[in-house]
Amino acid sequence: MSETLPIFDRRILVDTKDEKACNLGCKFCFATATHEFYRARAAKGVIDLVTAKERIEETLRTVGDSVHSINSSCSQELFLDEQFGINKIQWLAQFGTNVSFSTRIALSEATLDALRNIDQRMRESRKKLLVLTSIITNKQRTDLEGKTSTPQDRIRTLQGLRNRDIAAGVLMRPILPEGLLPTTEITNLIDAVKDITPVLTIGREFMFTDSIGSRLGIARTDPDIAPHIRGESVGLGFVGSDNNWHRYVDPRIPELVEFGRDKKIPTFTSTREALELLSTL
Ligand code: SF4
Repeated sequence: MSETLPIFDRRILVDTKDEKACNLGCKFCFATATHEFYRARAAKGVIDLVTAKERIEETLRTVGDSVHSINSSCSQELFLDEQFGINKIQWLAQFGTNVSFSTRIALSEATLDALRNIDQRMRESRKKLLVLTSIITNKQRTDLEGKTSTPQDRIRTLQGLRNRDIAAGVLMRPILPEGLLPTTEITNLIDAVKDITPVLTIGREFMFTDSIGSRLGIARTDPDIAPHIRGESVGLGFVGSDNNWHRYVDPRIPELVEFGRDKKIPTFTSTREALELLSTL
């Protein structure tokens, strides 16, 4: 019998060998910040598509009732190569459940059309494509987000998805400490998307290692950081020396959630709730 895959927040998480390491260089991201992640990933023998297919089918057979969607790649940007992203989403759509993904890339019109076609075929089986456009500020912050698309281009992508009736919303994650991510940049972004997005997720935590912290110029012991560390975790399932993770919970999160709700946007701190709502629209 084949093994099952992990389920997190009602999503099957699939990480397959064909996905390339992201080179966009967000400083807060474990995928690029800790190159050891990739060595560990290779050592763990990330699965090929044939094995992934077997395991997805086994997972759906055994615990399918608890699965809301299949989510590709929590650790890479699928649309670095847009055709690759389309093919991967198409591949995931074969399993007859919702498919979710997030992206920090501005997608071309051709890619948006291809996603609409996939979504329309899924809807024949009463399933959907669920897209979260990841944005954290209304300004282009190459110091934080490397070579990702500008916020304005990502907002245009969100509008393009919505114009094609694709269930898409905004994911603001991670909420970094105020010294790095001023409140006005967050609230200005919420104002910019309030008439476009049907749902807003404000990430409830930022997990960082000492090396990610040093890239951002912060430390777990900083006076403005230490009071908001809610736990430590060795591992997160990865292997390597840079593997002591600090869980930072920004104190502004409750007021940011209120800000979103005041703008009449259903606002959550978990992607699970956001995806569940998106799937009903
Ligand atoms: S685009 Fe995504 S995967 Fe790539 S570095 Fe940024 S957060 Fe990480």
